[in-house]
Amino acid sequence: MTQALDRNSRDPLTTRRSDQHQIEGIAPTASPFMVQFNGVTKTYRNGTVSLLDIDLKVERGDFLFITGPSGSGKSTLMKLIYGEERPDRGAVVVDNWNVGLLWGDRLSRLRRRLGIVFQDYRLIPRRTVSENAALVLRAQGVPRTEIQRRLHPALEVVGLQDKANCFPEELSGGEQQRASIARAIIGTPDLLLADEPTGNLDPENAWQVIKILKRLNTVGITVMVATHDASLVQKSQHPVIRLHQGRLQPKVAS
Ligand code: ADP
Repeated sequence: MTQALDRNSRDPLTTRRSDQHQIEGIAPTASPFMVQFNGVTKTYRNGTVSLLDIDLKVERGDFLFITGPSGSGKSTLMKLIYGEERPDRGAVVVDNWNVGLLWGDRLSRLRRRLGIVFQDYRLIPRRTVSENAALVLRAQGVPRTEIQRRLHPALEVVGLQDKANCFPEELSGGEQQRASIARAIIGTPDLLLADEPTGNLDPENAWQVIKILKRLNTVGITVMVATHDASLVQKSQHPVIRLHQGRLQPKVAS
């Protein structure tokens, strides 16, 4: 196992697990679930009900696909997990944190435990692959030597050691997505969220990305992938939940 993926190699600046329990409204017991949705409804300001009465439990170490057609609520579900949106009914609990109750510093602390991958990569154009990957840790004040220690294994996992000094425009789409995965895992997250990570990629590059996510899952990272690509889901052979018009469809094996 590489150092970057070592589950015991925790971010020195991150809250210890016991501290998390002090947050208002959270029971001081370790839950076997990484993510729980309890009766969650999300209505946007314009009145669109994007999720309706969602109950969901994701165990630590799971690899779960969230599928459904465009507009079915996949991105909203992801945003509720990382606190970009808040439920108007019900609770979203992530690693024992009730996300809807977190603001400011506390929300930042939760996000340090998460890695997030987007369809459009969201790399900073004028920064190299290494700099992009290191940026969040740098902002957190992690020492340069510690960042260097983590960079190599993170780039190795995604196969970009040789592209460390390249700028995003010098990379293919698949490579850019792999760079964004390196950025997502450099903080050794417990949970990796990927929202349509293969949406801009051809089938071969899409499968390469899924294989990397599978590998990360084998070293203990809980992985949730939102995608509308049914063939990829079928090939991957992981559990699937389906959304349709904001409602959860019965769980089926892929
Ligand atoms: P998916 O990711 O499956 O395409 P989304 O979660 O993006 O679905 O969207 C679910 C529904 O919520 C859609 O009807 C979409 O138009 C609506 N929606 C998403 N974001 C917003 C927003 N910020 N304001 C209003 N409606 C939104």
